[in-house]
Amino acid sequence: MENTSTADTFFTRRLAQKGQPLIIAGPCSAESEEQVLTVARALKAAGQADMYRAGIWKPRTKPGGFEGRGTAALPWLQAARAETGLPMAIEVATPKHVEDALKHGIDVLWIGARTTVNPFAVQELADALAGTNTPVMVKNPVNPDLALWAGAIERLERAGIRDLAAIHRGFSTFAPSRYRNAPTWAIPIELKTRYPELPLINDPSHIGGKRDLLLPIAQKALDLDYDGLIIETHPDPDHALSDAAQQVTPARLQELLSELKYRYRSSDNVDYRNKAEELRQKMDTADHEILEMLARRMALIQELAEYKKENNVKILQLERWQEIFKTRPEWGNKLNINDKFVGELYKLIHIESIRLQTEILNGRPIDGPGPLGPGL
Ligand code: PEP
Ligand code: MN
Repeated sequence: MENTSTADTFFTRRLAQKGQPLIIAGPCSAESEEQVLTVARALKAAGQADMYRAGIWKPRTKPGGFEGRGTAALPWLQAARAETGLPMAIEVATPKHVEDALKHGIDVLWIGARTTVNPFAVQELADALAGTNTPVMVKNPVNPDLALWAGAIERLERAGIRDLAAIHRGFSTFAPSRYRNAPTWAIPIELKTRYPELPLINDPSHIGGKRDLLLPIAQKALDLDYDGLIIETHPDPDHALSDAAQQVTPARLQELLSELKYRYRSSDNVDYRNKAEELRQKMDTADHEILEMLARRMALIQELAEYKKENNVKILQLERWQEIFKTRPEWGNKLNINDKFVGELYKLIHIESIRLQTEILNGRPIDGPGPLGPGL
C-alpha cells in the first residue's frame, strides 16, 4: 500500500517509512509483567508489529469483572518498551489516566469507544493533552454516529493535537449479529472521505469478537484501503482475563498477517489500466441511463400527484408500496442484483416520491431538498 498522505504526523511518517499497513498488537489487558513481556518479545522477534497495545484501565459493562491492573501495569510497559523498542499504546478515559500514562513515558494514547460517546469526557482529555504532542488514536463511539466520532477528533485537533488516527472497532447493535460490534463500513468510509489525511486503523478483534472472524474483517479493511490493523494478542488467549474469545497468540497473529492479501491502490500494468478505463466509461454510460430512467419515474410520480390533488386523494398508499417492496427485490433477484440492495433503493425512491408529492399537493416543500433531510 502506498501512502499518498501529505500530512506529516507520527502515524503518517511511520506509514510512509513502512509502505504497508501499520500493525498494532498486544493483549486486551496487561495482566502481569510476565504476560506483557512474553507478548512483546514474541512480537519483536517476529518483526511485524509497529506498536504495542495493552489496556490497563478496562471499561466494563457490568461491575465485578476484571477492571485492569491500573497504574501498577505502567512499569511493565516501560520495561517492554526498553527491551523491544516498540512504542507503547494504552487507553485513557480520564485526565488522571493521561497524567499517569505520560509520567511513565507511554508513547501513544487511545480513546475508547465508551469515552468517545461523551463530549464532556473527550473535552477533558483534550484539555489534559493540550501542549503535550502526544499521538492519539480515537476509537469510534459505541453508537453508529459519525458526527460524534468526527467531533471527538475535532476536539483534539482544536487542543493542538496533530498526531491523530482513527480506530474503527464497530458499533453496538441490539439485533443479533455474527459480529460482536457491527462494522457498518459506510461510517468509516465516510470518515475517510471527509478526512483523507487521517490514518484509519481497523480493529477486527472488537468487531468480530471471535478469532475466526479476524481474517475476513482484516482483509476487507485492507481492501478498503485502511492504514493499519490493531489486533489483540495474548500468550494464552483462552485464559485471558478479558476478551478471551477474540485474542490470538503471537504465532497465530504471524500466520494471519501472512494469510492477508496486500493489494495495490492501482497497477502499472497497461492492460489493466486500459481495461479499467474502458469499463469505467461503460459505467458512466450506464449511470446516465439509470438517471434518465429515474427522471422518467419521477415524471410519472409527478403526473400521478397532480391527479391525486384533483381528486383529493392521500399521498401515502400503503398497499401499493407494500407491493413495491415485495416485488422489486424479487425482480432484482431475477436480474442477479442483491435483493437487500434493491429494497434499500426503493426505500429511498419512496421517500423521494412522498417528498415530491407533498410539494405538489401542498404547494411548497416543508423539508430540505434531499430524501435524507429531516422528516420526509
Ligand atoms: C480495547 O481496545 O480493549 C477496548 C476496550 O476497546 P473498545 O473501546 O473498542 O471497546
Ligand atoms: Mn479488548
